Amino acid sequence: MGLRLYDTLQRETVDFEPLDPGRVRIYTCGPTVHDFAHIGNLRTFLFEDLLRRVLKRRGYDVVQVMNLTDVDDKIIGKAVETGVSIGEYTDPYKRAFFDDLAAMRIDPAEEYPAATDHIDAMVGLIERLRDNGHTYTTDDGSIYFRISTFPDYGKLSRVDLSEMRDGARVDSDEYDKESPKDFALWKAAKPDEQAWDTALGRGRPGWHIECSAMSMEYLGESFDIHTGGVDNVFPHHENEIAQSEAATGKPFVRYWIHAEHLIVDGQKMAKSLGNFYTLRDLLDRGYRPRVIRYLLLSVHYRSQLNFTFAGLDQAAAALERLADFADRLEQLPAGDSPNDELAGRTQQAATEFDTALDDDLNSSRALAAVFEWVRDVNRALDSGQATTADRDQLGGFLKSFDSIYDVLTPDPGEAEIGADIEALIAAREAARKAGDYARADAIREELAGRGVVLEDTAQGVRWKKV
Ligand SMILES: [Zn+2]
Repeated sequence: MGLRLYDTLQRETVDFEPLDPGRVRIYTCGPTVHDFAHIGNLRTFLFEDLLRRVLKRRGYDVVQVMNLTDVDDKIIGKAVETGVSIGEYTDPYKRAFFDDLAAMRIDPAEEYPAATDHIDAMVGLIERLRDNGHTYTTDDGSIYFRISTFPDYGKLSRVDLSEMRDGARVDSDEYDKESPKDFALWKAAKPDEQAWDTALGRGRPGWHIECSAMSMEYLGESFDIHTGGVDNVFPHHENEIAQSEAATGKPFVRYWIHAEHLIVDGQKMAKSLGNFYTLRDLLDRGYRPRVIRYLLLSVHYRSQLNFTFAGLDQAAAALERLADFADRLEQLPAGDSPNDELAGRTQQAATEFDTALDDDLNSSRALAAVFEWVRDVNRALDSGQATTADRDQLGGFLKSFDSIYDVLTPDPGEAEIGADIEALIAAREAARKAGDYARADAIREELAGRGVVLEDTAQGVRWKKV
């Protein structure tokens, strides 16, 4: 069985098949760079990283485009308020965003187009819609998409348009429009606002048109996957479909994939509730990036993730177990006949792991397969049934797991067991065998000072990081 994904448009899990064999084109709604990303945003970006890595593991070439929304009402308002240009206002947040991606070990997308660098493409698309009769212009010069010209409107979100009361706000765009359902493609500039002089007049693009224009510019008029958070389904993605398909007459996207919300202690995350966290907030509390990565990846992307500090501590403990396990594999007793039963168990775990990921990226099940395997291999290790002859097989699956989850290598600044520590362990062994217990104890203490404890077991000395 191949990869299956849940498509929001079809409301079911379907076989994944890209338009071009072997190549997957993905568009991902990126951040609005007027603030630091919060952990709910990061959860969505991490789900997209998981998707990317699973597609690559399946042998696909991946072309992923993630936009940076660097112009909108808020940004313009804040730039005016602080007396700087839009670029000066957004630059530090753009840099912070890329720092966060790197800290979270999110594989970079192929392109990160910024909205302000693609105004021409947006103007071109709006002109196309205007020429096809899908737009109207209001007195102030703003241009709206007329939803009544696109009968498929609502197919993604299944929003009931008849239930939308007049005056209901479906959009943060506030200018006069014919119907409350219509949305702005182009907003005429107000005095004092930074704006662009274009064939459509002086103004700036609406948020929705950015994503239609940039995705089609980089990925073509039809492409494979469009991702985002569930809060993007309506109106953002619904509007993207309307704009794109009304302009081209072609299906816009084959698979729409959305990550569920992150909540905190069972509640919606909100600054007003004091439960709003950015990555920086968690790092300031001493949590390591890879622990945060692990926690945010550990729940299936279509389930709500309830973030708690207890959950972070459990994630840290889970990584500790994996680290101990990896250390044990480094210290296997010598042997030359592989344990066939153990090899079979490892093969079974590897199959369960891949099957779970292929089943709509079922992360919790994939991780359960890994931890059950770790438990069984630890038992074999305890009873001396695993040796260096099994190392390649055991280490191979652990590595395969980590090529997807990427949580085993230390974060910058984390202590790593160096060659000198191995040498100290060997020196202590030698001292002990020679009966020089004072020296052996001194070395043990030195190691403890560096965060390494030694345990004498039936299979010999084992070390552990603490
Ligand atoms: Zn978007």
